[in-house]
Amino acid sequence: MGTVAENLKDVERKIQAACERAGRKREEVTLVAVSKTKPVEMIREAMEEGITVFGENKVQELVEKHDELQGELEWHMIGHLQRNKVSKLPGRVKMIHSVDSLRLAEEIDRQFEKAGLVADILIEVNVAGEESKFGLAPQDVEDFLDKIKNFNHICVKGLMTIAPFVEDPEENRNIFINLRKLLIDMRAKNNDNIDMTELSMGMTGDYEVAIEEGATFVRVGTGIFGNRIYQKG
Ligand SMILES: *Cc1c(COP(=O)(O)O)cnc(C)c1O
Repeated sequence: MGTVAENLKDVERKIQAACERAGRKREEVTLVAVSKTKPVEMIREAMEEGITVFGENKVQELVEKHDELQGELEWHMIGHLQRNKVSKLPGRVKMIHSVDSLRLAEEIDRQFEKAGLVADILIEVNVAGEESKFGLAPQDVEDFLDKIKNFNHICVKGLMTIAPFVEDPEENRNIFINLRKLLIDMRAKNNDNIDMTELSMGMTGDYEVAIEEGATFVRVGTGIFGNRIYQKG
C-alpha cells in the first residue's frame, strides 16, 4: 500500500477504466471513501486529494468525525444501524445506506421529521442470502417499499448490498447484476417517495466489477486507507 494520495490515484484510475469498459460516464459513479477506524489525519489527506464523500459504519465515529472536520463534506452511514442511535443522524448524514427493517425506517422517519428534514436512504438487500449479513431478502423488498411509501420524511433512493468476501471478484458479478435487476423492477412501481436510481455496491475487492454492472456508489476503505486494525474489546 502507498500513501492515501497514491492509493486514491490508483483507485481513481481503476474507476475510470471500469466506467470506460462499461460505456458509462465517470460522473455516474460516486466514490465513498470508507474511513472507519481511521484517524481524521488520514481523512484530511484524502480531502487534500479532492475527496468529499466519506462513509462510516458506526454512529459515534461518524458524529465525532463529522463534528471535528470542517468543509463541504458528505457523510454516509453504511453500517448496521441501531434504532437508539438514529437521533444523532439528522443534519449530519447525506445518506443512510443500510436500512434493513421496518422499525428502523419508522425511527428514521420520526427523527428526521423532528428535525424538519427528509432522510435519503437505501434499502440494504442480502442478495447472496448469507446468514451472517444484515439486509432484506430480495423477495421482501417490494412489500417493504409498500409499507414505507407513505413515510414523509424518508426518500428511498435505491438499493445497497454487501457482497460476499471472495478471492475472485468475478464471483460477485451475478450479485451485482441481480441487485440492478431488482432496482429496475422496483422502479417500475413508481411510488411517491420512491425515486430509485442509486445502487450502492462494490468494495475494495470488487468495485470494478460493480461499476461494470451499474454501481452508482462504490464504498472503498482498504484500497484507500490501507488495512484496518481493530482494537479488542
Ligand atoms: C468497511 C465497509 C466497506 C469498505 O470495505 P473495504 O473492503 O475496506 O473496501 C464497504 N461497505 C461497508 C458496509 C463496510 O462496512
